[in-house]
Amino acid sequence: MDGRLVLKDCSLFRPDGRVRTGMAVVIEGPRITQVAPNAEIPVLPADWEVACRGRLVAPGLIDCHTHLVGGQLVGISGERVLKNTQLRFNQAMAVHKSVTPLEVEAMSAYALARGLRQGVTFHVEHLWAPAQVEAAMTAEARSAERLGARLMLSHASSDGIEGLRPEAQVEGNAAFVTAFAQNSLVHGALGFFASFCASDDTLKLVARAREALGCGVHFHLSDTDDDAAATGRRAVARLAEYQILGPASVAAYARGIDRVEAELLAKSETLIALSPRMAQTMPGAQTGMEAALSVQALVGLGTSGNATLWHELKGALAIVVAMARSGQLLDPDGTMAQFLYGGASELCTQIFGVPCGNVEVGAVADVVVYDHVSWDEGVADAGVPWWSMLDSAPVAWTIVNGRVTVREGQLLGADYIGLAKEAAAAAGAVARRTGLHVTVR
Ligand SMILES: [Zn+2]
Repeated sequence: MDGRLVLKDCSLFRPDGRVRTGMAVVIEGPRITQVAPNAEIPVLPADWEVACRGRLVAPGLIDCHTHLVGGQLVGISGERVLKNTQLRFNQAMAVHKSVTPLEVEAMSAYALARGLRQGVTFHVEHLWAPAQVEAAMTAEARSAERLGARLMLSHASSDGIEGLRPEAQVEGNAAFVTAFAQNSLVHGALGFFASFCASDDTLKLVARAREALGCGVHFHLSDTDDDAAATGRRAVARLAEYQILGPASVAAYARGIDRVEAELLAKSETLIALSPRMAQTMPGAQTGMEAALSVQALVGLGTSGNATLWHELKGALAIVVAMARSGQLLDPDGTMAQFLYGGASELCTQIFGVPCGNVEVGAVADVVVYDHVSWDEGVADAGVPWWSMLDSAPVAWTIVNGRVTVREGQLLGADYIGLAKEAAAAAGAVARRTGLHVTVR
């Protein structure tokens, strides 16, 4: 876009819950270049003005672990969560190994568009398309670039899939990382599914590629009895030995980890993507989350592609309050902000090399305008925590990397219902091909 994007008469929301009313924000290219009282920033003839009319302007949301495609194929149900890890993996794998790049493109486009309409500017994706890894990743990147969504894309490679060698999956993933190394919107990371289905040889390959490419690694950390039985080792120790942990790496769930393991993760600066809502249904997930919080590890929230970040955040409240009540946590409200903005912003900065997570000069212009007017200056809506007001406020504008992707609630550059139809057709085709429809009916 030529010229400036000027947000007039905004109430600026900070992740600590403070609000400043009567402000204006100037965006030039991908960055925020000016933040000042409204009267100090006039609108010039070539500007695109966003009339906020007092509405809240906040940093974009970040989903630290999602399955944009898988979330449309395999969801959470009682029947599913009651199965053991290996059985769940086998069932999901049978579906994912038949997914084609064109189906990935259609389903990811719809999920990214839905995210943008919810104010999610950055998705940390764990794609699972083992039959055609590089082509599927490239197809998903195309969707992100078309819609203007920020994306970190990794592949959930694994052993144990008939006819599909893990080496080929890791190579395809690495080729994508190389191809998108200079992209300002879409970056690649390496990935594997989880420790229990990654052989020593596969982890060695991932570690070697990580060293060569200098990127993060994305995986499920679910240290349960199933994992230990499969590998004979605790997952954190195993991954530390292979040098999988480190800055820009993402460990999802942190199920079953203890305090010492959480400390190891914290020291390595690996982000732990927690899913507190899912923690209510999975054994070991809540204790893992408590361990991560008690050592102040870098944490963010992940949806796994079948919830909103607000669902996950509200799922965290009960656990956070219980920990505070027993003296294990000092600042429950600050922890809620850390969940949604703190760790995720650090991850974004590590990956894209620009300041993320605040509406301030120099920061990347990933910004959301909510249809919500705060009652006054200072702490937003006294007595009502910020997450209670923002989670129910419609998203009016979503701006990513300086580009308007949602304007007054409407997706720009694509027809939302059209995307939904294409995604439904793709998911239906996968379901028919794999017999999935028989199991869900
Ligand atoms: Zn995942």
